[in-house]
Amino acid sequence: MYCQNCGQSNPAENTQCVACGVTLAIAAPPPAPPAASLPHVENNLVWAILATLCCCVPTGIVAIVYAARVDNKRASGDLQGAIEDANNAKLWSWVSFGLGLVFSLIYIALSVTGAIADGSY
Ligand SMILES: [Zn+2]
Repeated sequence: MYCQNCGQSNPAENTQCVACGVTLAIAAPPPAPPAASLPHVENNLVWAILATLCCCVPTGIVAIVYAARVDNKRASGDLQGAIEDANNAKLWSWVSFGLGLVFSLIYIALSVTGAIADGSY
Protein backbone atom coordinates (compact mmCIF):
# COMPACT_ATOMS: atom_id res chain seq x y z
CA MET A 1 0.00 0.00 0.00
CA TYR A 2 1.10 3.57 -0.55
CA CYS A 3 1.72 5.97 2.34
CA GLN A 4 -0.83 8.78 2.41
CA ASN A 5 1.86 11.01 3.97
CA CYS A 6 4.84 10.62 1.67
CA GLY A 7 3.67 8.34 -1.10
CA GLN A 8 6.21 5.63 -0.26
CA SER A 9 5.19 2.14 -1.39
CA ASN A 10 5.05 -0.18 1.62
CA PRO A 11 4.54 -3.95 1.96
CA ALA A 12 0.86 -4.72 2.45
CA GLU A 13 1.40 -6.17 5.94
CA ASN A 14 3.15 -3.02 7.22
CA THR A 15 1.23 -0.90 9.70
CA GLN A 16 3.83 1.89 9.58
CA CYS A 17 5.43 3.62 6.62
CA VAL A 18 9.04 2.46 6.05
CA ALA A 19 10.03 5.94 4.92
CA CYS A 20 8.32 8.38 7.32
CA GLY A 21 6.97 6.12 10.07
CA VAL A 22 3.40 7.39 9.90
CA THR A 23 0.74 4.84 10.81
CA LEU A 24 -0.72 3.41 7.65
CA ALA A 25 -4.49 3.28 7.31
CA ILE A 26 -5.67 -0.30 7.26
CA ALA A 27 -8.00 -0.91 4.37
CA ALA A 28 -11.43 -1.39 5.91
CA PRO A 29 -13.13 -4.70 5.07
CA PRO A 30 -16.05 -4.20 2.72
CA PRO A 31 -19.22 -3.69 4.79
CA ALA A 32 -22.01 -6.22 4.54
CA PRO A 33 -24.41 -5.10 1.84
CA PRO A 34 -27.53 -3.44 3.27
CA ALA A 35 -30.84 -4.97 2.32
CA ALA A 36 -31.56 -2.12 -0.07
CA SER A 37 -28.64 -3.11 -2.28
CA LEU A 38 -29.72 -6.74 -2.60
CA PRO A 39 -31.26 -7.60 -5.95
CA HIS A 40 -35.01 -7.27 -6.12
CA VAL A 41 -36.90 -10.49 -5.46
CA GLU A 42 -40.32 -10.66 -7.03
CA ASN A 43 -42.56 -11.94 -4.23
CA ASN A 44 -45.34 -13.12 -6.57
CA LEU A 45 -47.89 -11.91 -4.02
CA VAL A 46 -50.19 -10.52 -6.74
CA TRP A 47 -50.34 -13.91 -8.44
CA ALA A 48 -50.93 -15.66 -5.14
CA ILE A 49 -53.87 -13.37 -4.29
CA LEU A 50 -55.34 -13.67 -7.80
CA ALA A 51 -55.03 -17.44 -7.63
CA THR A 52 -56.79 -17.49 -4.27
CA LEU A 53 -59.63 -15.22 -5.39
CA CYS A 54 -60.19 -16.76 -8.81
CA CYS A 55 -59.20 -20.35 -8.49
CA CYS A 56 -58.49 -22.58 -5.59
CA VAL A 57 -58.56 -21.10 -2.08
CA PRO A 58 -56.57 -23.69 -0.06
CA THR A 59 -53.56 -23.79 -2.38
CA GLY A 60 -53.84 -20.05 -3.00
CA ILE A 61 -53.43 -19.42 0.72
CA VAL A 62 -50.27 -21.52 0.70
CA ALA A 63 -49.00 -19.30 -2.11
CA ILE A 64 -49.88 -16.14 -0.15
CA VAL A 65 -48.05 -17.42 2.95
CA TYR A 66 -44.92 -18.02 0.91
CA ALA A 67 -45.24 -14.70 -0.92
CA ALA A 68 -45.69 -12.79 2.34
CA ARG A 69 -42.39 -14.16 3.68
CA VAL A 70 -40.33 -13.07 0.65
CA ASP A 71 -39.90 -9.40 1.57
CA ASN A 72 -39.13 -10.12 5.23
CA LYS A 73 -36.46 -12.67 4.33
CA ARG A 74 -34.92 -10.33 1.77
CA ALA A 75 -34.92 -7.45 4.29
CA SER A 76 -33.09 -9.63 6.81
CA GLY A 77 -30.44 -10.46 4.23
CA ASP A 78 -31.65 -14.01 3.56
CA LEU A 79 -31.63 -13.62 -0.20
CA GLN A 80 -31.51 -17.35 -0.88
CA GLY A 81 -34.50 -17.97 1.40
CA ALA A 82 -36.39 -15.11 -0.22
CA ILE A 83 -35.81 -16.57 -3.68
CA GLU A 84 -36.93 -20.02 -2.51
CA ASP A 85 -40.12 -18.64 -0.97
CA ALA A 86 -40.80 -16.59 -4.11
CA ASN A 87 -40.44 -19.73 -6.21
CA ASN A 88 -42.76 -21.62 -3.87
CA ALA A 89 -45.30 -18.79 -4.08
CA LYS A 90 -45.17 -18.95 -7.86
CA LEU A 91 -45.44 -22.75 -7.82
CA TRP A 92 -48.51 -22.77 -5.57
CA SER A 93 -50.09 -19.97 -7.59
CA TRP A 94 -49.81 -22.14 -10.69
CA VAL A 95 -51.13 -25.14 -8.76
CA SER A 96 -54.13 -23.00 -7.81
CA PHE A 97 -54.68 -21.87 -11.39
CA GLY A 98 -54.37 -25.47 -12.56
CA LEU A 99 -56.86 -26.77 -10.00
CA GLY A 100 -59.22 -23.89 -10.75
CA LEU A 101 -59.03 -24.73 -14.43
CA VAL A 102 -59.68 -28.43 -13.79
CA PHE A 103 -62.68 -27.68 -11.57
CA SER A 104 -64.01 -25.22 -14.15
CA LEU A 105 -63.73 -27.82 -16.89
CA ILE A 106 -65.46 -30.41 -14.71
CA TYR A 107 -68.21 -27.92 -13.93
CA ILE A 108 -68.62 -27.07 -17.63
CA ALA A 109 -68.62 -30.74 -18.55
CA LEU A 110 -71.29 -31.49 -15.96
CA SER A 111 -73.34 -28.53 -17.18
CA VAL A 112 -73.08 -29.64 -20.79
CA THR A 113 -74.10 -33.20 -19.96
CA GLY A 114 -76.99 -31.90 -17.89
CA ALA A 115 -75.81 -33.37 -14.63
CA ILE A 116 -76.03 -29.98 -12.91
CA ALA A 117 -78.78 -28.27 -14.91
CA ASP A 118 -81.44 -30.90 -14.30
CA GLY A 119 -80.74 -31.07 -10.61
CA SER A 120 -80.61 -34.85 -10.67
CA TYR A 121 -77.90 -35.08 -8.02
ZN1 LIG B 1 5.40 7.68 4.50
